[in-house]
Amino acid sequence: MTRPDLHERIKAARAERVAQGRTRARRTVTRRDGVRVEVDGRWLTEFASNDYLGLAQQFEVGATLQDGAARDGFGAGASHLITGHHAAHDGLERDIAEWLGYPRALLFGSGFLANLAVQQALLEDGDVCVQDRLNHASLLDATRLAGAKLRRYPHLDPEGALRQLKVAPEGAAMLATDGVFSMDGDVAPLRALSLVARMQQALFYVDDAHGIGVRGPEGRGSVAEARMGPAEVPLQLLTLGKALGGYGAVLVGTDDLIQHLSETARPYIYTTALPPALAAATRVAVRHARRDQWRRDKLLGLVDRFRLLAQRRGLELTASESPIQPVLCGSERNALALSAALENAGLWVPAIRPPTVPEGKARLRVTLSALHSLQDVERLVEALGRSWEAVQRIRSAVA
Ligand SMILES: *Cc1c(COP(=O)(O)O)cnc(C)c1O
Repeated sequence: MTRPDLHERIKAARAERVAQGRTRARRTVTRRDGVRVEVDGRWLTEFASNDYLGLAQQFEVGATLQDGAARDGFGAGASHLITGHHAAHDGLERDIAEWLGYPRALLFGSGFLANLAVQQALLEDGDVCVQDRLNHASLLDATRLAGAKLRRYPHLDPEGALRQLKVAPEGAAMLATDGVFSMDGDVAPLRALSLVARMQQALFYVDDAHGIGVRGPEGRGSVAEARMGPAEVPLQLLTLGKALGGYGAVLVGTDDLIQHLSETARPYIYTTALPPALAAATRVAVRHARRDQWRRDKLLGLVDRFRLLAQRRGLELTASESPIQPVLCGSERNALALSAALENAGLWVPAIRPPTVPEGKARLRVTLSALHSLQDVERLVEALGRSWEAVQRIRSAVA
């Protein structure tokens, strides 16, 4: 037999990750109170979650989850098309469609699943999906599942998108982009991309996982902020695990697209519906995300303050106005050293390394939440500045 042994292969791969310093380990949070978390017996202030509006521990949301579980039980019991579609799911879909001004919404187990579903249900062999180079992994992986051709264009480049569509004129086409980019925090040029899509008869699909709740009037997201809707963006994704503080995802779209997805998307059909209590709690989270403008205002104030102070200290930031404020570190070692120094100072910002970001672009992905205070932000920048200088000193001493 010459068949490769799987156990040998993963052992070698693990050894290589160890040699490159690219092992991954989870840290366990034992208690949490807002942005203070207890990890390995120590309380730290974290600047890394996606709970931008501070809804993950909102009292009324949590109480609704408990009430819902007492009433409807623990799980849905089945997939949506069998017997698992409950009134709470239906209500959540209606609330979100109304919030975003779309004809219909469809609830999914997660954003990753929803992205797989969209391309699997809409694209075929011979079709093309044109995507920003820095799109989320689930969008990129989805094209492979669909059997379509993936063509990527340079980050934030509508002309690049147009070129890629022009060289693939045969099959049906989708143009897909993150609304707010998850590792950089910058925003896609949505209006220009929508024009490109229209010129090329491509379906324009926006994954606004990090824009929903945070951007636009009533937190309706990046598409609404760009003053567009179903006419320009017939299908978009919002996730419920980031600014909304829970878990799951929703596609909003035109009637025909949502109908087709609900009847043909395998990652929709062959999976259990979310717990109805979770859907009920998410309805409350949506109400807060819509109404609590103070959460967005506070967040924006913190973002401005962070950028001003960080730039004064000479830290390298990205062109981001969102609560995702990465501090670029270059090498993985710099990023790891900076992260460790912050932790010593009681601040938790894990390093983000390749392959999550390109080689040489390791970073600390700082994220801000409406639950942070101005003092938290000042403390963070102070520690970042001090630690970054120390890391540089050590590097130049070694060199
Ligand atoms: C987080 C994220 C997803 C995945 O959503 P989950 O609900 O966490 O599976 C998809 N797209 C983007 C851009 C994301 O940031």
